[in-house]
Amino acid sequence: MEKSHGLLIVLSGPSGAGKGTLCQELLRQMPDLKYSVSMTTRSSRPGEVDGIHYFFRQKAEFEAMINRDELLEWAKFCDNYYGTPRFAVEQAIQAGQDVILEIEIQGALQIKKCFPQGVFTFIVPPSMDVLSERIHKRGTETEEVIQKRLATAIEELEYVSEYDYVVVNDEVPVAVDKLKSILIAEKCRVKRKPFVFKGESV
Ligand code: 5GP
Repeated sequence: MEKSHGLLIVLSGPSGAGKGTLCQELLRQMPDLKYSVSMTTRSSRPGEVDGIHYFFRQKAEFEAMINRDELLEWAKFCDNYYGTPRFAVEQAIQAGQDVILEIEIQGALQIKKCFPQGVFTFIVPPSMDVLSERIHKRGTETEEVIQKRLATAIEELEYVSEYDYVVVNDEVPVAVDKLKSILIAEKCRVKRKPFVFKGESV
């Protein structure tokens, strides 16, 4: 059977919704899934490693990549640039590998325009109170940045209707099971993989 292209899975949702935790757990349970490492101009948080969590770059370098069209999408989020390096994603998808992107909404909408066959999933927290509590507990941002992120979160929730799926991240194992189910179902779609039975195409 002809090898089909990999899935492009886009996870968005407000900062603090738990996308990172869900993504890590999904990658642990589905080791064939490839995580797209983004590029950013924000400073690294304690424990974050360049090339693993993000490619941490200066603004000038990021802007040069935009000008060379080396980013599949990019956006400015809370005063910093974030973007998806194009080459690694395109290469993996063409090789049949499923790739997951954890990006904010402006970037997801850019991908939707050029790659509508992607699987667009929105992660929401159970409530704004839980969201605020999670960002405060993380303890990695100043109060000013936290307030900015919370205000952005309220705006972001308006965009849920642009997505194919929404998953409430109340309990991580339940949310991960939902994400796995979405991916498994998407991979079974006839339009993604023409079914061949005893040499006959259906
Ligand atoms: P953080 O600074 O908390 O790591 O990320 C801030 C926001 O930027 C999150 O919503 C995260 O998903 C998003 N983000 C991370 N990488 C990218 C990217 O490559 N492109 C876009 N558009 N957003 C990203």
